[in-house]
Amino acid sequence: LIEFKNVEKRFGDTVIFKDFNFSVEEGEIVSIIGPSGSGKSTLLRILMTLEGIEGGVVRVAGKPLWHKDTDKGLVPADEKHLHEMRNHLGMVFQHFNLFPHMTVKRNITEAPMCVQGKTKIEANKIADELLELVGLSDKADMYPNSLSGGQKQRVGIARALAMQPAILLLDEITSALDPELVEEVLDVIRNLALKHSFTMLLVTHEMYFAREISDRVCFFDQGAIVEEGEPETLFIHPKEERTQAFLKAYM
Ligand code: ATP
Ligand code: MG
Repeated sequence: LIEFKNVEKRFGDTVIFKDFNFSVEEGEIVSIIGPSGSGKSTLLRILMTLEGIEGGVVRVAGKPLWHKDTDKGLVPADEKHLHEMRNHLGMVFQHFNLFPHMTVKRNITEAPMCVQGKTKIEANKIADELLELVGLSDKADMYPNSLSGGQKQRVGIARALAMQPAILLLDEITSALDPELVEEVLDVIRNLALKHSFTMLLVTHEMYFAREISDRVCFFDQGAIVEEGEPETLFIHPKEERTQAFLKAYM
């Protein structure tokens, strides 16, 4: 479903990815762990085409996000294709990024109506179902400011799901939350993973959670996958010294 092939990514002179290869299959839940600055968020941002690349190919559902132009180098695929491709991806951010001037329900119905052209009735129906799923049916008419961090993040998840994405990208969705609010958000993701067999790519610092829900865990350092494998193997018997040192600090 997702494929990075020989990808190169730089910020000025700083090389983030060089000859980077990575893929996620349909139905797979993949967690990315690793130190700060190793390129985890950049990976997700490239998928959302919030960042460009300097070389290689990134494919979503078999289609490249950039193609080569003889004059300009790598350029984004045409708008129609990107639009279609963005429908495959839903992203939840660390800092929620909700629209503050819209009610909870409107936050969820906005994209289905404006991007997918759904009617208000259809969009409201989807929103009602998703609010139920994340346990916030009673907050539909409130504004984000009056919600707790955990509630805001559950709205963030509902909003990403409203576009019916094939894959959910989660970037440290609990790291801005007070510890007592973390579980209510992780519960929503657990439920999606277990009951709805979603494809997910998540960046997380919650090691126990990565271990519990992932099919595969990738340890990132300096823009490379140092080690990857099934959670039990990677967490209990890490082979690489760098993985061992990182995990020791966390567990
Ligand atoms: P964290 O765990 O702190 O979120 P991360 O693994 O998500 O870290 P990235 O945000 O992907 O790391 O950043 C990777 C590197 O790229 C860092 O060294 C960062 O300083 C650099 N970087 C990220 N965005 C930009 C940007 N817009 N301009 C310049 N450098 C950037
Ligand atoms: Mg990050």
